[in-house]
Amino acid sequence: MRTVTLHDTRTGEVRELVPETPGRVRIYACGPTVYGRVHVGNARPFVVFSQLKRFLVHEGYDVEFVANVTDINDKIYVAARQAGVHSDVLAQEMTAAYRADTDAFGLGRPDHEPLASETIDGIERLIGELVEGGHAYAADGDVYFSVRSYPQYGELSHRQVDQMDQGEDVEGAQRKRDPLDFALWKAHKETEDTSWDSPWGPGRPGWHIECSAMAEELLGVGFEIHGGGSDLIFPHHENEAAQTRAARGADLSRMWVHVGMVRLDSEKMSKSIGNVFMLGEALERHGAETLLMYFSGAHYHQPMEYDEERLEEARARAAGIRNTARGLIDGPSPEWSAPLKERFFDALANDFNTPRALAVVAEWEREANRSGPGTVGGEDLGEMLGVLGLQTLMQSDVQPVSDEVAALRDERERARQARDWGEADRLRDELRALGWEVRDGPEGPELLPAA
Ligand SMILES: [Zn+2]
Repeated sequence: MRTVTLHDTRTGEVRELVPETPGRVRIYACGPTVYGRVHVGNARPFVVFSQLKRFLVHEGYDVEFVANVTDINDKIYVAARQAGVHSDVLAQEMTAAYRADTDAFGLGRPDHEPLASETIDGIERLIGELVEGGHAYAADGDVYFSVRSYPQYGELSHRQVDQMDQGEDVEGAQRKRDPLDFALWKAHKETEDTSWDSPWGPGRPGWHIECSAMAEELLGVGFEIHGGGSDLIFPHHENEAAQTRAARGADLSRMWVHVGMVRLDSEKMSKSIGNVFMLGEALERHGAETLLMYFSGAHYHQPMEYDEERLEEARARAAGIRNTARGLIDGPSPEWSAPLKERFFDALANDFNTPRALAVVAEWEREANRSGPGTVGGEDLGEMLGVLGLQTLMQSDVQPVSDEVAALRDERERARQARDWGEADRLRDELRALGWEVRDGPEGPELLPAA
């Protein structure tokens, strides 16, 4: 079991991961707010923390990974109103779409995917304790966290208290004792079609308290890693940290690990800016392997550009590995492979440096290709790729397919060429139901037996 280091936002340093119980790592990563389909930028934390879990499990750690779904939020009410549907219906639909989109990576699901709407009791309990402890106050059906009651506020995001804007609507501003305070509970409004009873009247929780409660309910407090996109550091994670510490006298997590933004033309990919590529469409166009290779090609903590050049590079890398893998035989790898495998996993242990690990894979390929086809065992390469979710590059696609399956594959390819993503999706599902997974490789679509 290697010692693992990660970049911790609170200290600003790369620190050793020291589990509370040796060998046990609990991870909570903030998931999507389900008001629309997720885009490529939303997918990056899902991929990074899923890969991190696979690596820790490989090292022998016992890992519990929680990624929540925010299904009660202002954005969902607004989007549902615009679409003319009930907010519950929209949230359920978009939760299912998020699961289907991220399933396509083949990384497996997190161990728990709690919904805010199923954690209302825990949320209300936590708010009640904050009110009792003097860290929160009720005002006309709302409840606010009193930022100045908590002297360590700003510690995570390294901001001065007077440089902070909670980004909340002006509507509640007159009920706040201090403009810095943020909402834990919001009184029911006419324009919102769901509400829950509470000691402060009917309403619904604020976003930040939802995560504090979901995390505590599943992992307790003082778990090892709290993660998410770097855009969540303030106010979301600052507020989560403050609420839990104020209520429990203990830190929510030991480390805060943030994933850099995906950028388009040097700007953060974001629905509010409108510069987004939807994940479902990106998977259809490029395939899961290319996207996993693309994400793995950058260090998780750094921002990364989403452009054709980088995607092409990722595609070529995946194709290169697949080519090498075709020449391998089953069984143990030769002696020269062992030190390379060590370096691969050392790179991941050292602040989860996936680009450095991929550079070692490239060295491995060069060695194998030099040895010639049919002479090198692929076991080590499979083990390395498996941690990144790229083990499918080792599989050959030569199993015979029926005429019906081949026809569906061709029909789907035609839909893709015509950019009819809805039809392509439908045909992919049909193929999956018949036991086949489609991978869009550099030489066209390939069929693999579905897992
Ligand atoms: Zn969260």
